[in-house]
Amino acid sequence: MLTKDTAICLRTVDYSETSQVLTLFTKTSGKIGAIAKGAKRKNNSFDGPVEILAYGPVIFKPAPNEGLATLAEFQQMPVFLLLTRKLFTLNAALFAVELTEAFTETNDPHPNLFDVLFNFLNDLQQTQDFKDATSLLIVFQLSLLSEIGARPVMKNCANCKTPLTSEWGKFYFSSNANGLICPDCQSNYQDRTSLSHQTAHCLYDLSKLTEATEATINELEKLMIRHFTHLMHRPPKTAKFFLKH
Ligand SMILES: [Zn+2]
Repeated sequence: MLTKDTAICLRTVDYSETSQVLTLFTKTSGKIGAIAKGAKRKNNSFDGPVEILAYGPVIFKPAPNEGLATLAEFQQMPVFLLLTRKLFTLNAALFAVELTEAFTETNDPHPNLFDVLFNFLNDLQQTQDFKDATSLLIVFQLSLLSEIGARPVMKNCANCKTPLTSEWGKFYFSSNANGLICPDCQSNYQDRTSLSHQTAHCLYDLSKLTEATEATINELEKLMIRHFTHLMHRPPKTAKFFLKH
């Protein structure tokens, strides 16, 4: 039986002279691996070869067990073309796609995360500078963690639950504690990093990101990269670009 869905392409690998293996994030079936036979031939049913960030309706035959689904159609729609015009929007998009692939399981539907990713990519391509793109990326990264049930604690100390206030004086974040840590608890967490007052308060209230300085945004993104490195046990491949800033 064929399944109809909508997909964003997270990854492509050449399979043979003419075919590709795709990792697709679909709205209702979640992440799937699919073979697109003949995608590199002329006049194929995928508007292929398919590229990363391709978006549109798909028809596929689901995999019998753990294997690959067979893609029958991919009607690519040109919705994210602007992303490739600027290096910082392309890199932020590739980062989001890498994390989506790493933190979702095959055939585990996440329709809300699909919408979050779609809206992020759409908003991202309208941004004019690195700072705005990075601030959207931070919101996406935290939404991804929420969707998979791993949102960091950002309103109070993750250990003793004391609410965050300016009276803390010093602010810390620990990946092992999965959140903010107060000065009284910080010595229990060897992996802690200290945060500026501004960065801690942006985490507490994400609406502050719009007024945050570039230095604060960069500090927050570096924190996110450290946290994802902890969760993935390796640095995300696309993080390099954001660590340079
Ligand atoms: Zn505490």
